[in-house]
Amino acid sequence: MPKSTPVLCGSISARPGPFGVAMHTAAYQAAGVPFTYVAFGVEDTGAAVQAVRALGIRGLGVSMPHKIRIMPYLDVIDETAARIGAVNTVVNDEGRLTGYNTDWTGALRALEEQTPVAGKRTVLVGAGGAARAIVYGLVRAGSQVVIYNKTASKGQALAQEFGTEWGGGPEELASIADADILVNATSVGFHAPEESIIPLSLLKPGRVVLDVIFMPPESRLVRDARACGCLAVPGTRMLVHQAARQFELYTGQPAPFEVMERALLERIHQL
Ligand code: NDP
Repeated sequence: MPKSTPVLCGSISARPGPFGVAMHTAAYQAAGVPFTYVAFGVEDTGAAVQAVRALGIRGLGVSMPHKIRIMPYLDVIDETAARIGAVNTVVNDEGRLTGYNTDWTGALRALEEQTPVAGKRTVLVGAGGAARAIVYGLVRAGSQVVIYNKTASKGQALAQEFGTEWGGGPEELASIADADILVNATSVGFHAPEESIIPLSLLKPGRVVLDVIFMPPESRLVRDARACGCLAVPGTRMLVHQAARQFELYTGQPAPFEVMERALLERIHQL
């Protein structure tokens, strides 16, 4: 495609959010690609996919509640997204729409900046959409995962599906002795800067701690983990890595990660 051809990318969610726009727009400017990114608040998933086809939109970020609903409308589901059971990214190759999942890549890249996960024991709390993607990534990369969740049936089902261990409810976390990596994949802490689901007694120096929470960007868990000498990975890092993978899929180029991270943090601090 000629360099000057304008290309539209965007995202669909229940309400249009500012973070994808901030990260992708900054990345396109820095990389000098003629892309424009628009966030759409959408209710009808099928109609949104028709619009992608009709308008020739190149790439689409997909947030809840559309991540599962969108799957039947696409032409191809990448093997990984099919395994996770959710699509957060669509790429339009001349009318052929392929669904991907970049949440697991985001989490894995963010964790592996701190430690290789292969052979490591990971304690993960949560069994929702974010947890599914992260558990998939960890198991694929060779980590031994133990899942804890408030609703036991959901946690047990997730553990069984991915061949990992079931630990119990969050109240069991305090008795854990053995863990290299801790992950909060619940929504505890979201817009709640004083809440954390991981007890302080688990935050031993040297442990790697990933919190999926990106609002606030310095969650209670991240602050606790740093204070206890852990290697803390904030949810913003995961969010930027998943968006960076989207950039790679849309443009075929490496993503300007630092530019995207700076744009995200600036946008969050403006709120
Ligand atoms: P879901 O609604 O699918 O899952 C929520 C999870 O949190 C469930 O495991 C639920 O437990 C648990 N939970 C909720 N409230 C409590 C509570 N009071 N005590 C204990 N557990 C609780 O949400 P998602 O998985 O889609 O998202 C989870 C979080 O991850 C959100 O805050 C989201 O913003 C964030 N996120 C971050 C990303 C990033 O890149 N940083 C990417 C995607 C999501 P139960 O099953 O018992 O209900």
